[in-house]
Amino acid sequence: MTIDNPRHLPKVDDLLRDERMIQASESYGYVPLRQAVRHVLEEARSKLLGKLEGEGDLGLTRESLLEEVLAQLESDSRPGIRKVINATGAILHTNLGRAPLAREALDAVIACSEGYASLEFDIEANRRGQRTSSVENRLRRLFQVEAALVVNNNAAAVMLALSALGRGREVIVSRGELVEIGGKFRVPEIMEESGAILKEVGTTNKTRLDDYEKAIKPETAALLKVHRSNFRLSGFIEEVDEKTLADLAHRHDLPLIYDLGSGCLSEELAALLPAEPTLASATASAADVICFSGDKLLGGPQAGIIIGRAQALAAMASHPLMRAFRCDKMTLVALEATLTLYLDPKRARERIPLLSMALYDSDALYQRTQKAASELVDFGIPARVLESKMILGGGAAPEMELPSWALAVGEGQSVSSLEAALRAMDPPILCRTSQDELLFDLRTLTVEEERLLKFALADLFRQEDLP
Ligand SMILES: *Cc1c(COP(=O)(O)O)cnc(C)c1O
Repeated sequence: MTIDNPRHLPKVDDLLRDERMIQASESYGYVPLRQAVRHVLEEARSKLLGKLEGEGDLGLTRESLLEEVLAQLESDSRPGIRKVINATGAILHTNLGRAPLAREALDAVIACSEGYASLEFDIEANRRGQRTSSVENRLRRLFQVEAALVVNNNAAAVMLALSALGRGREVIVSRGELVEIGGKFRVPEIMEESGAILKEVGTTNKTRLDDYEKAIKPETAALLKVHRSNFRLSGFIEEVDEKTLADLAHRHDLPLIYDLGSGCLSEELAALLPAEPTLASATASAADVICFSGDKLLGGPQAGIIIGRAQALAAMASHPLMRAFRCDKMTLVALEATLTLYLDPKRARERIPLLSMALYDSDALYQRTQKAASELVDFGIPARVLESKMILGGGAAPEMELPSWALAVGEGQSVSSLEAALRAMDPPILCRTSQDELLFDLRTLTVEEERLLKFALADLFRQEDLP
């Protein structure tokens, strides 16, 4: 029976006595249940009151109200940030949380977070310790640099460097490097916020050593070099490499700050990305401050990593912003565990998901995709292997697409509704689409996730019993 008058709505207690509500109370708790019932009745009341003369009935029934309560409890209890299955072929997707963490990093997070940790305690000396000293030691040894610091993200690292070294004075930067990098990291704005005065030199496409040199004055505090990351210049261009720039800075007794962006530590990955500056060349340049992200090509947690000269980093370490930008223990232990894996490049390649995904053997990926396709075909689902591209993403190497293989599914089906149905699953499955196929890159899927994908497809195509 439809309810078309607010006076005929059931009472809160009346709905609460329903068998399904009693069960819902067990799973969701009585307080949220009561709140949801109140809310649903409230909404129904205002809808009925706001109903226009002559408008048809709203289809409200006791049954629809109960269902609405259950739906609301379900959506209220579901976290906003959820696990997703990423089959898009974009390995470092800022919208999807960038780099997945190595098992070792996750284990360290759990071990040090479910109980207590020696975060600021020196166990051997039995006294207060420095929260970042172990990860900084590891960074110093890994990169053979005088000093290291860790903050929340690379944006914070750059801000800290400019504030500590450039406040109230001029920092010289090429016009070709005044870029914006995803999520509103804009070099001129960061510069302004830091209190440093931007001194632009050169032109958009060409900046020469001479341009920097002429701009150096007594009020100059530092030189800044920014990797353009998600933006590429081509044609008639000229820029000054970090080594030459560092030499110039040092001749004038100034520090060079180098915002490297991605920070690729794996030589094997660097070999695939010729346009991406490497950490090796950055450290060889002797730049005083080198900043990069922990969760881009390094494959660790979100962090801003700073390495370089002791004098410049000491000024940053003692700056008040350092306290505002400091990392929590979960980040520090995950980063330390990731860096430890890098001590052995072979281990890093096997254990750090970003590296194993980016360096996935092409033949092995083809075989895996082919096997998945034939399994699907056996169940009557149209599927085949297609040449495709993977992108690194995450502000690293923009047009950097590398060859890959895609599992192409669903020829002739309604691609957009299939895509939406996969996205509505739990966990949601994200893929790319072509004109008439869904495209899945299996390199970013675990074996278990691939199984879930096949089940989901089987379900969508009304098949059952997939192996
Ligand atoms: C990505 C990037 C940043 C911002 O780093 P976050 O870790 O996302 O804060 C800054 N500079 C460059 C050159 C980058 O590529």
